[in-house]
Amino acid sequence: MIASQTSSEIVSFYVNGRWENAESRKLLPITNPATGAEIAQVACATAEDVDRTVKAAHQAYLKWRDVPVVDRVQPLYRYKALLEKHHNELALTLTRENGKTIDDARAEVRRAIQMVEVACGMPSLMMGDSLNDVSSGIDSYTIRQPVGVCAGITPFNFPAMVPMWMYPFAIAAGNAFVLKPSEKVPMTPALAAKLLDEAGLPAGVFNLIHGDKTAVDALLRHPLVRSISFVGSTPVARYIYATAAAEGKRVQALGGAKNHLVVMPDANMPKTVENIIGSAFGAAGERCLAGSVLVPVGDAAEPLLQLLVEKVNAMRVGDGSEEGVGMGPLVTREHRDRVAGYIDKGVQEGAKPVLDGRASKPKGEGFFLGPTIFDGVKPEMTIAKDEIFGPVLSVIRVKTLEDAIELVNRSPFGNATSIFTGSGKAAREYSARVEAGMVGINVGVAAPMAFFPFAGWKNSFFGDLHAHGKDAVMFYTEQKVLMTRWF
Ligand code: NAD
Repeated sequence: MIASQTSSEIVSFYVNGRWENAESRKLLPITNPATGAEIAQVACATAEDVDRTVKAAHQAYLKWRDVPVVDRVQPLYRYKALLEKHHNELALTLTRENGKTIDDARAEVRRAIQMVEVACGMPSLMMGDSLNDVSSGIDSYTIRQPVGVCAGITPFNFPAMVPMWMYPFAIAAGNAFVLKPSEKVPMTPALAAKLLDEAGLPAGVFNLIHGDKTAVDALLRHPLVRSISFVGSTPVARYIYATAAAEGKRVQALGGAKNHLVVMPDANMPKTVENIIGSAFGAAGERCLAGSVLVPVGDAAEPLLQLLVEKVNAMRVGDGSEEGVGMGPLVTREHRDRVAGYIDKGVQEGAKPVLDGRASKPKGEGFFLGPTIFDGVKPEMTIAKDEIFGPVLSVIRVKTLEDAIELVNRSPFGNATSIFTGSGKAAREYSARVEAGMVGINVGVAAPMAFFPFAGWKNSFFGDLHAHGKDAVMFYTEQKVLMTRWF
């Protein structure tokens, strides 16, 4: 059951190859952030729903693990073709429930498809190592086997892409998967699940449930769930990691961020400004890779800020489904008010709002907030430290590259950072010494592609193996070493 136009529709569960009727469960509203209107409702899974879903997944896994890997990837090839065919429909659904612009939504779906493409390479990716005669007459080799039922819990900001960091890799590796996406944006994952069903994956190999903490806790504690992949805020990531690890599961928990963009005086200013705008205000700042602290070094500050404010002033804020809109609304009214509260706090603490998003008033009841730029921000201010997750950019001026590195490394987060410079030496020094998992050099959003791993450091990540790339292959498989001798 996939919700469409009216609020009477209920987004429900897809378990063991069937769409279920879950009208009797707790229902939560799904809103269109651009209009404020309720567009559908989502059913919340109970602990019993989770239990029967995991048991069905486990039964499916027992057969799926023995299907040859070349056959396991065939439904994923068909899935990729279906995702291509429905690319625009997925993007429109995404914009409707999340609010990001249609261009951002299309780019997200493109990234999601790339995950499936890489997972289709599983026959090569899962290969082990071998060495003959490790001792006299003994040959040794490694094999990778699936782990069992894997679960994924995902955030509201990338409902197409983040789930696909997980399940295409897990499924291709021979696991069964249970996805619990954000209850704020369940329609995009539901549409993707419909396409996966059409691609002909055996029943129970992929399952979709919805809900809140009740569903998550049941997954974390279920003995048949062998691994947990989580992406969301740091407090929840920390909780997921601690709880699931205590239950003996393997865990990867990607958390929040506070990303710094360092600009040297020798940077190409027009191109740098373009990158900073995309980084800070793309997806309305609701991105774990969003640049939220701008750090101009020395003389970079004046020319940079002059051009930046001029360009950001010209941005069009509005309904993301309209072509040409530069920035859409925030995901919910509560989140919009929370971000506006941070702007209030910035003013109270003495930062100077060069641009104040609270003044922006697009028409309608949408959850809009214009772009905000604060100058004169001090490292100890709340807006310099907390993850705001909205279109608010704090400017902290420093004198030297050394000061910039020291400032960035003081943050408890370590997701991503970028440096803008014409100097290879400065870029090399910065990328070597900065404490972050993803570094951009003249790139504002340093998002690794599907074939590279994705995760931060420090409070931005709890676990060992990162998302997608070869790390995903290792995360979703157990390794075994064989020693063989034939008499
Ligand atoms: P969130 O932590 O509120 O929710 C994420 C998921 O956890 C959802 O599925 C939600 O239902 C569930 N959840 C929420 N509270 C829970 C609780 N108390 N117990 C158990 N489960 C709970 O995150 P969000 O607001 O949906 O997403 C935004 C956050 O995600 C930001 O902090 C952002 O930085 C982070 N994020 C990080 C990355 C990354 O790669 N590091 C990527 C995308 C988003």
